[in-house]
Amino acid sequence: MDISAPNVSPAARVLWGGTFDPIHEGHVSLAIELSNYLGVQPLYLLPNSQPAHRHAPVATSKQRAKMLTLAIQSHEQLAIDMREIERQGPSYSVLTMAEVRQEIGPMMPLIWCLGVDAFAQLTQWHRWQELLTYGHLLVLTRPQVSWPKDPELLTWYTAHKVDEAKQLLASPSGQVAHLKLGQHDVSATQIRQQLCLGYQPSATELAPAVAHYIASQSLYGIN
Ligand code: ATP
Repeated sequence: MDISAPNVSPAARVLWGGTFDPIHEGHVSLAIELSNYLGVQPLYLLPNSQPAHRHAPVATSKQRAKMLTLAIQSHEQLAIDMREIERQGPSYSVLTMAEVRQEIGPMMPLIWCLGVDAFAQLTQWHRWQELLTYGHLLVLTRPQVSWPKDPELLTWYTAHKVDEAKQLLASPSGQVAHLKLGQHDVSATQIRQQLCLGYQPSATELAPAVAHYIASQSLYGIN
């Protein structure tokens, strides 16, 4: 199932779900920083099949998986978890977390990472209040995205939060933390728009190997 997994015994399972349409260097840089911060390798990028809370991806699942492989090929602390693409159907995080919990047993910390823009939509997620039954949530800051104001979400956050993200490593599940690492002002939407207009994103936005693949597949309006 895992395309690449270094031969180490990690202290936690850390998953970063997303559409990755395409994976950009904001994802990659932050994932590496997070792996270093937590001291956990590998950190798994987990592409969804059918995102449940947004428009359908432009690239196919196979193309998005290939771009992930190309983007992480020289970063040994990153790996890919293909379970949602292999499972088909709507990619509900709660189902994925429940499945991973079954695999890793009851004691290992499971940490699901998401950007603050995704966190702001959490109350729309399928069975969202069950997520912490299976693992922790780690919310990462993102440039130009402010902290959500939804009272229901904030009440829930306050009830489950820990002050330091590293505290998530001390228990298997049940908590949520907020973490500010490097601020990478790049989004997949912005990359798709640049490509569609005929601009080439810089190497700090899009890995050259991914850019070549996009061109070879005539993706995102490139012809
Ligand atoms: P799009 O612009 O198409 O919505 P995106 O750049 O947000 O895409 P996704 O694949 O949707 O990329 O993101 C996967 C996860 O990574 C989400 O939880 C998102 O919030 C987070 N994320 C993406 N880019 C960043 C970034 N630059 N900084 C922090 N978090 C990010």
